[in-house]
Amino acid sequence: MTDRQALHHAVSRGWRHMGTTLVHLARDLPPAAEGTLVNPASTRGSTVLFPTVADMNRNGTRRYDHELIYGAMGTPIQHQLESAIAALEGARHTQVVSSGLAACSTPLLAFLGKNGHCLIPDSVYGPTRRFANTVLRRFGVETTYYPPMIDADGLRAAMRPNTQVVFAESPGSHTFEVQDIRMIADIAHEHGARMMLDNTWGIGVFQPFDHGVDISIQALTKYPAGHSDSIIGAVSVADEQDWQALRDTSIQLGQVAGPDDCWLTLRGLRTMGARLERQSRAAIDIALWLSDRPEVARVLHPALPSCPGHEIWRRDYTGASALFGVVFQPEYDAAAMTAMIDSLALFGIGASWGGYESLVLPTTGGITRSCPPGEECGPQTGPACRLHIGLENPEDLIADLSAGLEVLAGGAVYGA
Ligand SMILES: *Cc1c(COP(=O)(O)O)cnc(C)c1O
Repeated sequence: MTDRQALHHAVSRGWRHMGTTLVHLARDLPPAAEGTLVNPASTRGSTVLFPTVADMNRNGTRRYDHELIYGAMGTPIQHQLESAIAALEGARHTQVVSSGLAACSTPLLAFLGKNGHCLIPDSVYGPTRRFANTVLRRFGVETTYYPPMIDADGLRAAMRPNTQVVFAESPGSHTFEVQDIRMIADIAHEHGARMMLDNTWGIGVFQPFDHGVDISIQALTKYPAGHSDSIIGAVSVADEQDWQALRDTSIQLGQVAGPDDCWLTLRGLRTMGARLERQSRAAIDIALWLSDRPEVARVLHPALPSCPGHEIWRRDYTGASALFGVVFQPEYDAAAMTAMIDSLALFGIGASWGGYESLVLPTTGGITRSCPPGEECGPQTGPACRLHIGLENPEDLIADLSAGLEVLAGGAVYGA
């Protein structure tokens, strides 16, 4: 095997093996005498009618069982999606919620209380940080931001008697540090805290519950929905007691997802293995091509040694997704990078990722970090951007990026 073949294998093996699972997950539809459609119907509804008051009362007590009680507690298509995600993540139960952000905020509200303390990595998704700094702070919960590559001694020192939750996100948003989840989970548990992981990047190629995670979070908006047409999230748990706490808080907050979004996500899941197998290989080809370019200082792709935590990725992950960062040489300024981004024809400029299309997002200036002044807050030493590689032909994407790098270097002749 050449080095490139070995890398292709390393970034896509998890997705290949998952293809079969994804096609057959949660397909146990009731058999029909006249035959069965491949896909479930998306049924909309608020009121659920029961034959008698006794039946209604009995069902009202089954809120932990994914039963049809009232539309705000989930419709059959939501429950089907929940069982698919639970199977995919190896969870006991999954709660589907209205967005990926709600998948972060709902368990934080479920497992943190007054005067509690929460540890969150400095590389966390920006809106999760904003939630901690506003809502959680207002309700008396303190947050400490820890360096994502913290070691065991550092993490033990950061724990307090009132630490209720240790949050992780691996790899980190925009800076892609791969975290040592097993170590973090062990220390959280030594101190009686719950371990939460935002597993959006690793869906399917990182098994959270095998690594000691208590609560696993996913923005289903990304690869599961997969077509940039839905906002939806999921929270999964390993333990029955955690399930009751999560389910109660979800209901108390009115957390639910619309049936059309559930249906689109379930449909997206069927092709996720094939999409990611192809997208992850294209992403590694493009990451390797970029890392050979003189304009590029560093490629932040967990499968490359230039990414912080690469060794942990090798140990813990069975694949990669198609989202990574690029840091340019410090001699280029942000304006040159902006001109490059604006010049790209095949990369859409926008937030989010995980759809079928390629995207680019500048990440310098747009991210917040809390590390002490004077210390390096991460691997971004020059202007940086984030690329999402879609299903376009990788050679076409490389040609587009190649023209873009000429613009970056000031070589483009405008109006010629
Ligand atoms: C996108 C994203 C979210 C939020 O998902 P939305 O559905 O857009 O609210 C949360 N965490 C991570 C890591 C994400 O990338």
